[in-house]
Amino acid sequence: MNNNTVSTKGTDGLFYVGLQIKNLAFGLKKVYSKQAIGKKIDKIKTWQNIFAQDFVEHYKKKFGSYPDFDVIVSDIIADYNNDEESRQICVNFGYGFRLYDSSEELFKDIAKTLNLNMRGAIRKMKTFYSIPRETIESEALLQIANIEELESLKEFAIMPDVHAGYDMPIGGVALLDNQISPSFVGYDIGCGVSHVNTRMIFDKSAKNFDELTEFVFTEAYKRIPVGFNSLSKPVVYKSDFTSASGDEELTERVREKIATQYGTLGGGNHFIEIGLNDKKEIGITIHSGSRNAGHTVADYYMKKGRIFNLDSELGQAYMSDMNYCLEFALENRKKMIDIMLSIFGLNITSFMPDFINKNHNHAIVTDTGVLHRKGAISAGKNEMGIIPGNMRDGVYIVKGLGNADFLNSASHGAGRAMSRGKAKKNINIEDFKQTMAGIKAKVDSETLDESPFAYKNFDDVIFAQAGKNIEIVDKFVPIINIKG
Ligand SMILES: [Zn+2]
Repeated sequence: MNNNTVSTKGTDGLFYVGLQIKNLAFGLKKVYSKQAIGKKIDKIKTWQNIFAQDFVEHYKKKFGSYPDFDVIVSDIIADYNNDEESRQICVNFGYGFRLYDSSEELFKDIAKTLNLNMRGAIRKMKTFYSIPRETIESEALLQIANIEELESLKEFAIMPDVHAGYDMPIGGVALLDNQISPSFVGYDIGCGVSHVNTRMIFDKSAKNFDELTEFVFTEAYKRIPVGFNSLSKPVVYKSDFTSASGDEELTERVREKIATQYGTLGGGNHFIEIGLNDKKEIGITIHSGSRNAGHTVADYYMKKGRIFNLDSELGQAYMSDMNYCLEFALENRKKMIDIMLSIFGLNITSFMPDFINKNHNHAIVTDTGVLHRKGAISAGKNEMGIIPGNMRDGVYIVKGLGNADFLNSASHGAGRAMSRGKAKKNINIEDFKQTMAGIKAKVDSETLDESPFAYKNFDDVIFAQAGKNIEIVDKFVPIINIKG
């Protein structure tokens, strides 16, 4: 709800306020006189800010300093008319926030300190939002609400790059009790990112800069099939696939794809990027997945059902086939990294200790349940990861902080701000070319839907989580970007 549209008619107002502090959410009520509001609104502009400022002032008075958490006032509803709609919004407010037992005391204390009356019961919710709910697109919110209905859902975390996907939004992390869902992993099983810092120094002002970037760009396209292209001759992959479902046709189809797609990039948002960090070191980053093999497995099981008991035949078969695809995705990216290194005259063996290779679409059995990540990276304590933004702004190398609210996860990218169709319709090709100046890349109508303008602001997404669930270790800005 946009509070700038709240009616200001009437005299003194009783405001119902939804307040989010870190992972707590609750409804409060506070009386403001219209006169007081009138004076403040000139200065502060929005109702939310008036309340947020009052909150901070009160808190400072009571505790001496401002607490170490963000205060986001999500809804303020003027109840002059005592209308049903306002009341309903108040009642619904707080829906979707995860509360812990220990939070309740803190919450009550804050309300008491500020002389605010609590409204309604504190809800213990399963979902943790890393960004305010009102900034999330409605289709993704509907999908979240749908998943919250599941009895087997233990905990749910929403990453800052969240947007609608198939069944579960991308940027969703769901912990299920003894159940596994193919659609919570997604169609591109094992999609992920790998990165290697070559430690080679390269300067943008080097005389041979254009010549070298042209060489790497051309060689990459020569050696790695992209888009719908496959290998011209089938190759042998290290282990043969045999579907645990017993379905021979599935086995055959996946084997065929593995043989012709091992070491291929794919299309869409998959990319190879050569970037430089502050020290001018060359980093190679690759975003790709399990190619058509993973898609075939995902599609097969999604047609069998939405969720399986982990110990059921289908649950076990999916788990086994999915694990094979997760491994294939890791190997597929590793092979491409090795090919890219060979263009620089290097070999992957010497980079193995620092090689980062992570899947962001997967399901893992943990002590507490089956953890599904769809478009989210694992960010356990000290775990290295990669978060790419868009083809202009590069990639962040991050270290996990092991934040339980985030279910030890972080965003997998910047997240789309608009659909591919919308991007192709609304983004101007000349603007796209201009913004990509200085980066050797495929910049044309075919990649228009991958333009930086089609994605959320990268820094907004990173800073919504930096210091909370991840720590930034390095950043590579592209000089070459390769897409299908
Ligand atoms: Zn991906």
